[in-house]
Amino acid sequence: MKKVSSGKLKDYKAVNVYLSLGSNMGDRQYNLNEALRLIAQRAKLFEVSSTYETEPVGNPDQPRFLNLVARIQTRLAPLELLTLTKGIEAKMGRVKEDKPNAPRPIDIDILFYGDQVIKNRQLTVPHPRLMERAFVLVPLAEIAPKLIHPVSGKSAEKMLAELKQGVQGVFKLPGNG
Ligand code: ADP
Ligand code: MG
Repeated sequence: MKKVSSGKLKDYKAVNVYLSLGSNMGDRQYNLNEALRLIAQRAKLFEVSSTYETEPVGNPDQPRFLNLVARIQTRLAPLELLTLTKGIEAKMGRVKEDKPNAPRPIDIDILFYGDQVIKNRQLTVPHPRLMERAFVLVPLAEIAPKLIHPVSGKSAEKMLAELKQGVQGVFKLPGNG
């Protein structure tokens, strides 16, 4: 499709964004698919990793997650994108008082927004805990092994290889690539 640029509106360039999605409540596969469907209504969905079943981190006394990573392209500014992802979380039944690491129907984290480094009250990008999380790095390295973290300068595959705890507790679901 031909791209039409508007003369008046400020032209934001389409940026490659990586999102981490997780669900450990209800029909987890449905929740992931539904979140992807809602994201795709507002952004271009380019690539989705396999789905992985993962042991919960932080609070182990809760059900296992299903996790995946998706690459989208969007012209939404970072905080607009955060508003979108939080809106989807709310719509899908996540209650506001949820504590971090609490069970949730859907959690959507912004891992990378192009190569931008963002730090404000609402948003830190790259996501501050991604380098410690096998459930993020395994699906990320599957779809973008050469992607470079703009602060550490390390590729996704290198961050994965350097994970202290390894990839235990992360299991690729059969039959999804
Ligand atoms: P967690 O994902 O660590 O369990 P939450 O999903 O409850 O925690 O997120 C808490 C807050 O983290 C969100 O309200 C959001 O404003 C903030 N936040 C900061 N950086 C990010 C990011 N990169 N992606 C998503 N949320 C972020
Ligand atoms: Mg989150």
